[in-house]
Amino acid sequence: MFDLILTVDYELFGDGSGCIDACVIAPTDEILAIANTHSAPVSFFVDASEFAAIRDLAPTLGIAAVEAQISAAADNGHRIELHLHPQWHGAIRRDDGWKLDYDKWRIGDLSEAEIADVASVGLDYLHSLAPSSDEHCNVFRAGGWAIQPSTATLKVLRDQGILMESTVAHGAYNPAGGDWYDFRRTPKQPFWTIENDVCEAAVGHAGNLIEVPICTAKVSRSDHARALREHRQHASMPEGCAGSYDGPNNRWQTIHGKLTKLARLGHVMLDFSTMPGWLLIEITKDYMQRFSSSGTRVPIVAIAHNKNFTRQSADNTRRWLEWASEQPELQFSDYLNWYRAVTNTDSDSKAMS
Ligand SMILES: [Zn+2]
Repeated sequence: MFDLILTVDYELFGDGSGCIDACVIAPTDEILAIANTHSAPVSFFVDASEFAAIRDLAPTLGIAAVEAQISAAADNGHRIELHLHPQWHGAIRRDDGWKLDYDKWRIGDLSEAEIADVASVGLDYLHSLAPSSDEHCNVFRAGGWAIQPSTATLKVLRDQGILMESTVAHGAYNPAGGDWYDFRRTPKQPFWTIENDVCEAAVGHAGNLIEVPICTAKVSRSDHARALREHRQHASMPEGCAGSYDGPNNRWQTIHGKLTKLARLGHVMLDFSTMPGWLLIEITKDYMQRFSSSGTRVPIVAIAHNKNFTRQSADNTRRWLEWASEQPELQFSDYLNWYRAVTNTDSDSKAMS
């Protein structure tokens, strides 16, 4: 059996640009409407650092709409999970926009004390929106995939009672200095126990988190090129949404990162905000085939970003989910549902950790 887990990194752009209505609320409503037609739960990785800062420093930007949307989603069977972009920690609001700390872009670069601080502010914020603590905030995903080196972050997550980690995307690699990640070498399994290094299967289970990686596949160069071509024919952001991908890299690092990504053309995540329907189906099928004999419930984690979820993404997602709903081996699920099934726990899942 396969558990298809729909995840959305719920956030504005990394430099604070983008407006809440057009980049967050409207595309998320669209995602929810599509998922709800299949009774598919959505796991929202809510950037708690960012929205806690907006609540404190610039609530008139639309924080009430964000909080209403998240709380309603949580009430309606969707999940709220922890996502952190630490550059927002200690943000300053000026007349001309946000002043964020790009030295803190990568959570993997922070000290354990800093990570603990960022995580507890974030968790307090999310628990205020979704009070049923057993049902939410059981999974973590690092902002910008920048979790490595992961020892300190994993220790903090364990201390905070987080059960699962979902940042790793096998094959993904970004060498740019300011926002690097490297998932070229990971266990070739659909999930594994982790202790210090997210890319290494730990021995034993007691007290450790489970890594539930984002589904990736190696697609042919021609398929990848065709998907990119189709994607470029349409808008890359939702209607009325504009933002920038400025971040911690200098110009050379950005160019180097882009060239390397190009060289790795062919490695893709199961991303329902940027991929055509036919490729979403192909990758899901491929993943199911790869792990068909694993003898356990296999999680298939798909990813999307609200700020890239366009009308085109909606058409593609509809087509893919319609296909998925017809596959007898595949069920719509979420992390906790899957976790309880594979660890044979029910409502008392926290007792495992
Ligand atoms: Zn993010």
